[in-house]
Amino acid sequence: MPDLTEAFLELVRLTSTDLPPDVEASLKRAREQEASGSAAQGALDTILENVTMARQNSTPICQDTGTPIFYVQHPPGWSTTKLKGQIRAAVAEATKRTYLRPNAVDTVTGKNSGNNLGDPSFPTIHFEEVEGEDLIVDLILKGGGCENVGAQYSLPNGRIGAGRNLEGVRKVVLDAVFNAQGKGCAPGVLGVAIGGDRGSSYYASKEALFRKLDDENTDAELAKLENRLTQDANQLSIGPMGFGGETTVLGVKAKSLHRLPASYFVSVSYMCWAHRRRRMTVRGDETTYE
Ligand code: SF4
Repeated sequence: MPDLTEAFLELVRLTSTDLPPDVEASLKRAREQEASGSAAQGALDTILENVTMARQNSTPICQDTGTPIFYVQHPPGWSTTKLKGQIRAAVAEATKRTYLRPNAVDTVTGKNSGNNLGDPSFPTIHFEEVEGEDLIVDLILKGGGCENVGAQYSLPNGRIGAGRNLEGVRKVVLDAVFNAQGKGCAPGVLGVAIGGDRGSSYYASKEALFRKLDDENTDAELAKLENRLTQDANQLSIGPMGFGGETTVLGVKAKSLHRLPASYFVSVSYMCWAHRRRRMTVRGDETTYE
C-alpha cells in the first residue's frame, strides 16, 4: 500500500482553497439573476471575488475551514488503519501550512488541539470497502455556521402539517430553510435524507452533498422533489447572506433510505455557499482530483 500522505495534503489544499467549478458557475448564474445594484448582488460579487483570490493565493476560501469529513472507498486488502494515519498526518500538515484553521476543540476542557486532530473522531473519516482497484476519497469541509442550521424532523409533524409522504418531506425541508434565514451563509446547498434511523439519516444527508450541482437524481420522484424544493426555497426571498433576493439555495440533493415502519426521519444538512468538496482518485501510480 503506497504512502499517500502528500496526495491527501493536496486534496485538503484544493478543497480549502479552490471552489469546485460547478459551484462557482452556479454562484455566477445567481449573480446575474439578482437585481442590479442590490445588496444580494453585492454579496455575490464579494463572494466571487473572494473565490478568485483564494484560488490565486492558495488561501482558504473562508476563515472557518470547517470540519473535514472524508468518505473513503478502498479496494479489498487496504489497511484502513494506515489510511487513517496518513489522512491525519495530512490534516495536521495542512493546518501547519494554514490551509486549515485549527478547529478541533476538546468539548470538556475547551482546549483547542491546535492541529485539527482530536481523538478519535476529528477529522471525521468513513471507510467502505468496494470492488475494484481504485481508491476514491471524497472530502468536504463543513462550515460551523451552516452545520448549526441543519435540522432533523420526525414525521408526522403536526406543527407544520407534514405527513409521512414526499409532500411532508417538502414542507419540513422548507421549514428548515426558513428557520435558517441567512445564518447558514446562503445561498446554500441542501443535502436531504429521507428514512433510516437518526444517525444513518444525518450521515446520508451529508453523503448527498458530494453530488455535483448539475447532476440529476436517478430516482425520478426524488429528482422532481429536488427541483421543486429548489424553486420553492428560492421563493422564500431570504437571499444571499440573508440580504433578500432571488437565490436562497443553489440546489437540493436528496437520498432515500429504508426505515422502520415506526419511524420516518427527514434530515437536512445545510451547506453554505463555500461548498468545499473534492474527490481524489488513485489508480495505479496516477492520482487525479475533480
Ligand atoms: S457557514 Fe460557511 S461561509 Fe459561513 S462562515 Fe462558516 S464556512 Fe464560512
